[in-house]
Amino acid sequence: MTDRTFGQRPAVQSVGAFQCPTCGGPIALRAVGISVTAVCRQCSTVIDTANPNLRVIQAANKKAFDTDIAIGTRGELFGTMWEVIGYVRKWVKGTVYAWDEYLLFNPWEGFRFLSQSNGHWTFFKRLNRAIEGIGRNTKLTYDDQTYTVFNKDRVFVDAVQGEFYWRVKTGDESDATDYICPPYMLSSESTDDEINITHGVYVEPNLIKKAFPYARLVTPSGVGACQPSPHGSQGDTIVRLGAIAAGVAIVLHLAISGGLPNKSVIEVTGHPIQVMPLPTSTPSASTQPAGGAMWSLPGETQTAPTAQTPQTDGQPVVTESFTLPRMTNIRLDTATQIDNGWADFDLTLINETTQATYPMHESVSYYHGLDDGESWHEGHNAARTWLSSVPAGRYHLVIDAETDQFSKDGQLPFSLTLRRGLTEWSNLWIALLLILIYPGIVLFRQWSFESQRWSNSDFKPDGSRAASIDSSETESDE
Ligand SMILES: [Zn+2]
Repeated sequence: MTDRTFGQRPAVQSVGAFQCPTCGGPIALRAVGISVTAVCRQCSTVIDTANPNLRVIQAANKKAFDTDIAIGTRGELFGTMWEVIGYVRKWVKGTVYAWDEYLLFNPWEGFRFLSQSNGHWTFFKRLNRAIEGIGRNTKLTYDDQTYTVFNKDRVFVDAVQGEFYWRVKTGDESDATDYICPPYMLSSESTDDEINITHGVYVEPNLIKKAFPYARLVTPSGVGACQPSPHGSQGDTIVRLGAIAAGVAIVLHLAISGGLPNKSVIEVTGHPIQVMPLPTSTPSASTQPAGGAMWSLPGETQTAPTAQTPQTDGQPVVTESFTLPRMTNIRLDTATQIDNGWADFDLTLINETTQATYPMHESVSYYHGLDDGESWHEGHNAARTWLSSVPAGRYHLVIDAETDQFSKDGQLPFSLTLRRGLTEWSNLWIALLLILIYPGIVLFRQWSFESQRWSNSDFKPDGSRAASIDSSETESDE
């Protein structure tokens, strides 16, 4: 009965079932009236179903096989029930790179394509419009999004099963170009006659599992071409927040450190420490610099030793006055020529208006020698002291020192520098490190994810050709 039906009706429309012209096995079309190519399940003969005589497009050349998602399986994806009606396996010429393409059909929605590569799935819809530059350009714009070329290959059909609304057979070749903008992909496949453009979206493997529970699913490996980064937009947010926090930390740090330019306010250079006991010297007369006359301040300074009696320290040195225009930190650097000895400095910063005092202490000691032929040294002959949040005002510094260093003339030169507005950068670096450590990890993960993705591409993320493409093409003869 079916045979007679064929003979009487030339058009394929009403033919839902027929016998394979090669093996006589039954073939039932699922997209009746649409499919023009069908593959016999028994002998894999490719049949032109639009031809009233069921012309054989391709004789049986491969054993029929079971596809991972069986032809005829139905599953719901993106809210629509689809029936798997066709399957094509495609290879990139000269490589081991292959992928599966399932043709999905729904009588109301039409056709979709589901492609699988290394366990990663993409759901494609055919676009009925041209896209400028597709197949040629390295970047494309579609729906206001920029797509970057990912692969461009000569591909051939390695196996077909089921039925199709176009002519297809094993060995068909085409030029395929994929562009990605994760989770989307734009693909073009062109032959001499036509170009097909499809737009795809990455499908999480668990959705495929849910839609086709009886399918044999490959465990995903690596990163899919248009697989969205799991660190994606969230990662961008974290990195952006980190950058903002770092900016705030820098601004705060500069605000707290006074915003004053780093400036040397006072330098006391070459002032000798009058070393006692040296009974012959008369410290007050011989060593006091001009500023020493200021040594008659009230308050704390009263307790400082005077030079009237022999003592172990020298005359205090009083610096000239200086102004701190606003609250700032200060840093005192003291340098000596201590050599196998020590010196202690009692430093008092005095606010001339409020008489507030800021005592500081610096010790230096420097020893060196030879032990069993090995030289050693310990300590330093310089010291540094920080003082933070010193209010604005007019100040001077009283320096009182003692040392065990007996030089020939009973004096030990030292120099002292007081700087204001210095930024203690180490605090900022620690803060920045803490702020940026997590965004850094996220960035690294994103980078590593993207480099895995692009390791499957002949291109670089900027669309330029990776060097490896040339070598892979020359090796393709093997
Ligand atoms: Zn057959």
